[in-house]
Amino acid sequence: MLLTDEQVTANCLPLLSDFLAAHQPLDIVEVEPGEVSKAGEVAIHLWSHFLELSVNKNDVLICLGGGSICDLGGFVAATYKRGIPVIFVPTTLLAMTDAAIGGKNGIDVDGVKNAVGLIRMPERILVYPGFCATLSEVEFMSGYAEVVKHSLLEGADLYEMIQEFNPEECLIPASLLRASIAVKHTVVRLDPLDQHKRLTLNFGHTVGHALEAACLVGGKPLPHGIAVAFGLQVELRLSRLLKLLTPQEEERLQGLIRSQFERYYPNLPEWKDIQPYLLNDKKIATGGLRIPVMEKPGMVDIHSLNELDLLQSAYNQIVIARN
Ligand code: NAD
Repeated sequence: MLLTDEQVTANCLPLLSDFLAAHQPLDIVEVEPGEVSKAGEVAIHLWSHFLELSVNKNDVLICLGGGSICDLGGFVAATYKRGIPVIFVPTTLLAMTDAAIGGKNGIDVDGVKNAVGLIRMPERILVYPGFCATLSEVEFMSGYAEVVKHSLLEGADLYEMIQEFNPEECLIPASLLRASIAVKHTVVRLDPLDQHKRLTLNFGHTVGHALEAACLVGGKPLPHGIAVAFGLQVELRLSRLLKLLTPQEEERLQGLIRSQFERYYPNLPEWKDIQPYLLNDKKIATGGLRIPVMEKPGMVDIHSLNELDLLQSAYNQIVIARN
């Protein structure tokens, strides 16, 4: 079975014509492109469709698409008949460097991102950087935000590489892609079940997810990585307000992110409009909001915030600086 969306069918499927001729899939199922398909109704539709086609445990679901297709397909495959194998063929930079790696899948419920899902590793992940050629500029930059995040977590070779790299051409060298994937892969191998180390991969995502959810509910979906870039700015400011990161280092990093991503930000919502989504954040455990903060590139750790005041100040400062 091959799960994809119509935009990916138009742009990427022709590149797989030899493969498809040799391995005739049982069926090619298309869903609507984007986050809207990470929904309960779509999952039910796919389970029913698999039953109609008598899909069984010997079959494999190939997910060809961006993070939405990988998240949806990974979830449907993990739950159909208690699990059939899944292969990811990510076609966005974001899915290549992040969403397809690490086995997290899920769907959204009532505007809450990834409200239902699980962690289950795919059988294979096949990465072909050439798929990036047909991405829009904003989708490319959305993926590039995760590369930047990985470079901040790593603080070594990848961090050096991105200081030199100009993403304007919307092409990603294989060396940069490989280094970015390696950061995520290493963290996931150390902590597959999200107990501690893996939580650092959420750097930028506490605020990023809340912004993404607020934009989605407001009818103006924002690409995931663009929301994460803004989230990184807020969480770097939080790190500074917590006196972990020096003002000089923070200003430098803010400048790097701002110069590359600010032009893609929407009209930023007020704090009161994103706060409800923070309170739904899955990183809230007893003891407050657990949020990654940074001391310096290569040193990111988890901090428990009992009150949201400091995060609110960080958010407002970044929003005001932008206006
Ligand atoms: P997406 O999957 O929604 O795709 C964005 C758009 O790009 C769609 O319209 C799609 O049709 C189109 N597209 C895909 N590949 C293309 C190509 N090669 N050429 C032209 N168009 C193409 O967006 P995304 O940014 O890849 O993924 C976002 C999702 O990933 C979010 O739901 C996010 O929560 C999830 N995510 C999951 C994880 C995880 O660990 N599971 C990590 C990060 C993000």
